Amino acid sequence: MDELADFCQREDLWLHVDGAYGAPAMLTERGERTLKGLQRVDSLALDAHKWLFQPIECGVVLVRERRWLSETFKEQPEYLKDVEQDGDELNFMYQGVQLTRLWMSFKVFGLDAISRAIEAGFDNAELAEALLRQAGCWEIVTPAQMAIVTFRYQPSGGDEELANRVTHDLVGRLLEDGFAFASGTQLGGKPVMRMCCNNPRTTPQDLQTTINLMSELAAKLELIYY
Ligand SMILES: *Cc1c(COP(=O)(O)O)cnc(C)c1O
Repeated sequence: MDELADFCQREDLWLHVDGAYGAPAMLTERGERTLKGLQRVDSLALDAHKWLFQPIECGVVLVRERRWLSETFKEQPEYLKDVEQDGDELNFMYQGVQLTRLWMSFKVFGLDAISRAIEAGFDNAELAEALLRQAGCWEIVTPAQMAIVTFRYQPSGGDEELANRVTHDLVGRLLEDGFAFASGTQLGGKPVMRMCCNNPRTTPQDLQTTINLMSELAAKLELIYY
């Protein structure tokens, strides 16, 4: 690490260390020997939830000079003028790439492409609804809207309890299978499944395969529970 630090100093380069796992070892003599030079980095990431025994949400990035972050990442477009901070208040928006990333996406892909990607979600949910209706064993609970469709299993005998049980348990079965993920929720006091189709990479074939799979799994569950 000392050699790296020398090199970066000579070449005027930023030295960042991913200490997610190991950095806390600096708190011991053995670790300090192993990680000699770590104190010279410009920035250091560490996961307090690993070797500092904290809950999982706790991640840390240390930067030698706080202003380096805002000097690098701060954007002040017209639409953010209103949320401008006073004085020295720390605003995480200006400390990393998140804001820049949105701006970059619009620059690189263009508004049209993003609009089409959102549009694809509407289309996919409508197609999913049509395919669910076609399959014949699903009741549409809320028709496709905002890229989401909800539905529940409709057993051949129309038994409500059976429908509830199959619909509820199908979520876990689908997850176990691993091909696709649909979440479950409750609507009107009954379990329903929910397909959120807002990934623009989802193809009509993906939807068809998912719905075929759900129909098969649900039919199996019906047989078991009947
Ligand atoms: C755990 C780990 C990461 C990933 O950290 P997350 O907090 O899980 O995103 C990155 N680098 C190293 C060396 C790690 O040990």
